[in-house]
Amino acid sequence: MTRRANEKLIGALRRAIGDQQLHMLYQPKVDLADGRLVRVEALVRWEDRELGTVEPSRFVPLAEEHGLIDDLTQWGLRTILRQWLDWREQGIDTQIAFNISALSLQHLDFPDLVERMCRALEVPTERLVLELTEGATQPLVKLMDTLTRFRIKGIGLAIDDFGTGYSSLMQLRQLPFTEVKIDQAFVADASQTSDCRLIIKAISDLAHGLGLTATAEGIETAEQLRLVREVGCDVGQGYLISPPIGPEALAPWKQAFTAQWRKLIADEPLALRRDVEADALGER
Ligand code: C2E
Ligand code: MG
Ligand code: MG
Repeated sequence: MTRRANEKLIGALRRAIGDQQLHMLYQPKVDLADGRLVRVEALVRWEDRELGTVEPSRFVPLAEEHGLIDDLTQWGLRTILRQWLDWREQGIDTQIAFNISALSLQHLDFPDLVERMCRALEVPTERLVLELTEGATQPLVKLMDTLTRFRIKGIGLAIDDFGTGYSSLMQLRQLPFTEVKIDQAFVADASQTSDCRLIIKAISDLAHGLGLTATAEGIETAEQLRLVREVGCDVGQGYLISPPIGPEALAPWKQAFTAQWRKLIADEPLALRRDVEADALGER
């Protein structure tokens, strides 16, 4: 992209953050044992009148480079916390996962700010999970203090896109994560190659050994769902379960999904369908 085009985009993004041109979609994550909603992941969207839809993978890095990331992070946090209150009023008490740029974590007082925002709106900190991705320039190990502060406050920490890029096994041991999100690239190829299945199982076993939740992202087919259930992943997310949806669509999705889950796993081997069997026996 030319410098001029970039400058135009940055100017437009600055206005968008202030002018409500951004909004959040939410993608459900379900318990792979029984299909129950465990949390939603908030994913930012930007529709610009002139530029059309701009993808987060394009504008989040720009916001990081041009000093807009803290504004974006704070807008996002306010939006999701208010959304949590709305859902609770509708009787949905779920966790919300929020993607956070490692740059926003560089301020030592950031955990206090997040806690104050939660307290001001009376959202329990345990309902919030922060998703972090390792970047080339911001090793997460340097953020140990900040991450520990979040955990002390009861906020969950997930390492996103694990297994590709810069993430390393050392971080799982050293940092206080609660969840490992296995990169969708492995799930995408899981039906074709046994290597990917092995990697998913190895990451999932490792996560369990360290007391963490193993989440499989990018589940698009029933076959991929079966594979990630078979290797023991705890939580699943992907277009098969639900694409990212508007906040008003969560309650209808939740209602419809119970029946859909039964259909999704109906053809699986019996050993994987413990929950269906238990249901039939009236144990649940
Ligand atoms: P991520 O956190 O790894 O999010 C998962 C991405 O995969 C999302 O793309 C989601 O829409 C997409 N996805 C979900 N299910 C499937 C599937 O079954 N198949 C495939 N192929 N894709 C699936 P999206 O929304 O474009 O977000 C891209 C990245 O942008 C995110 O990756 C995250 O790193 C970043 N991001 C999104 N929202 C925010 C935000 O509010 N703040 C920050 N700092 N980063 C954000
Ligand atoms: Mg994420
Ligand atoms: Mg991811």
